[in-house]
Amino acid sequence: GYQRVLEENRKLYNQVQDLKGSIRVYCRVRPFLPGQANRVNAVDHMDEGSITIITPSKYGKDGRKSFTFNRVFGPYVTQEEVFADTQPLIRSVLDGYNVCIFAYGQTGSGKTHTMTGPKELTPESVGVNYRALGDLFFISEQRKDSFSYEVSVQMIEIYNEQVRDLLAADEIRNSSQKGLNVPDANVVPVSSTSDVINLMNLGQKNRAVSSTAMNDRSSRSHSCLTVHVQGRELASGTIIRGCMHLVDLAGSERVDKSEVVGDRLKEAQHINKSLSALGDVISSLSQKNSHVPYRNSKLTQLLQDSLGGQAKTLMFIHISPEPDAVGETLSTLKFAERVSTVELGAARVNKDGADVKELKEQIASLKAALARKE
Ligand code: ADP
Ligand code: MG
Repeated sequence: GYQRVLEENRKLYNQVQDLKGSIRVYCRVRPFLPGQANRVNAVDHMDEGSITIITPSKYGKDGRKSFTFNRVFGPYVTQEEVFADTQPLIRSVLDGYNVCIFAYGQTGSGKTHTMTGPKELTPESVGVNYRALGDLFFISEQRKDSFSYEVSVQMIEIYNEQVRDLLAADEIRNSSQKGLNVPDANVVPVSSTSDVINLMNLGQKNRAVSSTAMNDRSSRSHSCLTVHVQGRELASGTIIRGCMHLVDLAGSERVDKSEVVGDRLKEAQHINKSLSALGDVISSLSQKNSHVPYRNSKLTQLLQDSLGGQAKTLMFIHISPEPDAVGETLSTLKFAERVSTVELGAARVNKDGADVKELKEQIASLKAALARKE
């Protein structure tokens, strides 16, 4: 009776919250690395939703600066725990939403650790990419009596505003001759997590090949694993399309213009431009500007359909604990703060039918039922 109504009410309320297309920002702090000698910590305090950084005198008077996020993950939070809060997003991809998951932070702060995992992958250490795909197949299997799903993936890299297909058999392919937000990259059908693992390995290998010329190009390019899902509701024949972008962004560190020249300077300028374009797009969406500057970078052009009121976005912000990283840490936290004040309109399912309004009506009627009980 009463308890059940209460339960239902809460469930529906959560669903409505979940349908809101707001951008969620999670902050993850990397542990000190094994063998690291100086273990003075720039993080003064953290709890589930906030973090306080010690700002050294070089950045003004010695003091502390606090930031609030949807979640803060400390250095010993496991990959599984980090992913736990991401699971509802995976479900919504199968329900026809577009989802973007970003890893942002300076080089060495743990972006690839979050998205892919450490060098030696174990079932416990794999990152968001593997877990997301695993869940996607698991949930689609659970739904097989009412839906039939087709899943396919693309893997691209954006380096100096050039899009490169990591699943191309051989040479670099540039998307510039094709549609803006659909890169001319191979779309490969997959039917199991191991299919995806094989493709991710291929993509990593293709990425590595090009990085021999320049050391660690991976920190200076954005890499994006895109998962396309098409579901057919067996009873009605309705087609639902969802899409998930898993983006390991280029390192956000600012390079000192007086110290770099030539290729390095060009790289740095491209990275700055695309990361600030990302920030601009999100902040202009939050202000409901009629003009959203998607075209200012390849990254935002590519993600145009998956950023904004119709989509769900999750940004993992990474910070390093070392005091000498504090300048970058503060700039990362400020970027995150700018992005997280966002409240976008309701996300929309890529299909006609059930939406927030209906759920709100149900909540209203449940509330009325609840009031009658009291
Ligand atoms: P980025 O991709 O941001 O440059 P990495 O993910 O490569 O950074 O992380 C740098 C180093 O720190 C790697 O050796 C990685 O394994 C380690 N590391 C990062 N985050 C964690 C974490 N949460 N727990 C343990 N080790 C981590
Ligand atoms: Mg990396």
